[in-house]
Amino acid sequence: MSAEFLISGGRIFRGLNSGFAEAVSVKDGRVLAVGTLDEVGQTVGAGTRRIDLGGRVATPALNEAHMHLLAYGLGLSQVNLRAEEVRSLDEVLKRIAAAARNTPKGQWVLGRGYDHGELDIGRHPTAEELDRVSPDHPVFIVRTCGHVGVANTAAMTLAGVNHNTPNPEGGAIERKGGKLTGLFQERAMRLLRDIMPPPAESQMVDAIELAGRNLAALGFASASDMNVGMTAGMAEIGAFRRAAAEQRLQQRMWQVLAGNPEGIARQAWESGLRPGIAAGATAEEMLAWGGMKVFGDGSAGGLTAAFFDPYLESAGGGTGIFCFPDAAMHEMLGHYHRQGWQLDIHAIGDAAIEQVLIGMEMADTPEAPILGRRHRIEHCGFVNRDQRRRMLKGGVLPVPQPSFMWEFGDLYVTNLGRERTENAYPMRTWLHEGHHPAASTDSPVCSVNPFPNLYTMVTRKTGKGTVLGAGETLTVEEAMHCYTWCGAYTQFAETERGTLEPGMQADIAIFSRDLFAGEADDILRTQADMTFRGGVPIFDRHGEAAALAGVAD
Ligand SMILES: [Zn+2]
Repeated sequence: MSAEFLISGGRIFRGLNSGFAEAVSVKDGRVLAVGTLDEVGQTVGAGTRRIDLGGRVATPALNEAHMHLLAYGLGLSQVNLRAEEVRSLDEVLKRIAAAARNTPKGQWVLGRGYDHGELDIGRHPTAEELDRVSPDHPVFIVRTCGHVGVANTAAMTLAGVNHNTPNPEGGAIERKGGKLTGLFQERAMRLLRDIMPPPAESQMVDAIELAGRNLAALGFASASDMNVGMTAGMAEIGAFRRAAAEQRLQQRMWQVLAGNPEGIARQAWESGLRPGIAAGATAEEMLAWGGMKVFGDGSAGGLTAAFFDPYLESAGGGTGIFCFPDAAMHEMLGHYHRQGWQLDIHAIGDAAIEQVLIGMEMADTPEAPILGRRHRIEHCGFVNRDQRRRMLKGGVLPVPQPSFMWEFGDLYVTNLGRERTENAYPMRTWLHEGHHPAASTDSPVCSVNPFPNLYTMVTRKTGKGTVLGAGETLTVEEAMHCYTWCGAYTQFAETERGTLEPGMQADIAIFSRDLFAGEADDILRTQADMTFRGGVPIFDRHGEAAALAGVAD
């Protein structure tokens, strides 16, 4: 039987172990043949279409192993205030004013991604300033880190917040001269979030589809939602199932439920959801419910990741925070482990990693061994040698975000000093020791754009150009391996995708240039041209598939 289409004319990256091929052919959603042009040419028939790379490169499609697809999608409909576009208070206010004009009075205007350090005023906007352009709409804009935000007076009035309102535990409402500035920090933001109406199901399905289309345009055919239930509770499960049933899901999804007491773990279990159960017949390959998320600590940028040694005194000191005492964390991990979930536990500082790892080791019993369960430590940034050894022993996977080094690396130096930062997110050491670090971005925390992420894996450069830990650089092939195969491995899918070998699913990305050749800087100027999921194009920048449809040779 002959191939449906064949890709040649540039290099095909098969995977880290097999290297490059001249051609790959596809049939019935799977790789039919890969190898030299002669070998793959054997599979060509009268109806085989051809895609000419013209010197470009094809790889296994990318896999976003740790992101928040729904939150990212919902954020796309909020006012974009990110520093790439917005660098002045005037521009912030102009965009909020425009959104208010298009929003019925009384409804929320939400903004995301401003960075006060990059604004001309060098400070957060104030409630008063937001009032000037939007007196009749409640407004809440959140900083790029997601940990602080500014509300206007209408929003604070709705939330019942006034100058006498006490700071909630783990948060602060800023006051200057007895007056509210509008700034809400950490858990104080819940005062506002709790009164916002949750998104409707149709809105969530739209967001899931939009997010997926953006990801497809960047080369992704697999992704994850790492905290299902964080925004709208159980309704999020329904939204993902509907997106799958209506074939509006673009990526194969690995779904991780919001654990913690305030998550949906118990409700989901009681509703009959079990790990690994697919959501509906047609969705079987698209939506896997695999994991349970628990938070162990905060972030190293926000001084809330938990460390053995304190942050630099100049940055504020302290050793960060644990979300739970040891006993509560260990009990939760044991419980979810016995229920059969993959544990996907957020831990960034070495002390939090230790707490989590001990919990996983305590859950390890002859009846329910942890080896083979592929439990994960999400982020796992500041991990020590002994912890890495124990992770290998228990088959516990690090799921890092090299993009944190790109976006926050310089801040880490300020907070933790140079040495600890240079040893953070040790990609080369992990690979060398036999770990499978799955590269990801934690979008919308960092931009979902994979090119800075690949670039920083290869250069260890931050966005400001600082090289942090030159010994931890990877080759482009290794970086691509972390973005494809390692992601599939964390999802129990490495025999199905993550490499381009005969029989594997034809999840393929075509990039605009051969990013394995040339200068590292070229990676930042690369874009995805085509993305296939199971042999079907889900993104096609130049209309190549359409132009070739029906052409027989
Ligand atoms: Zn995350």
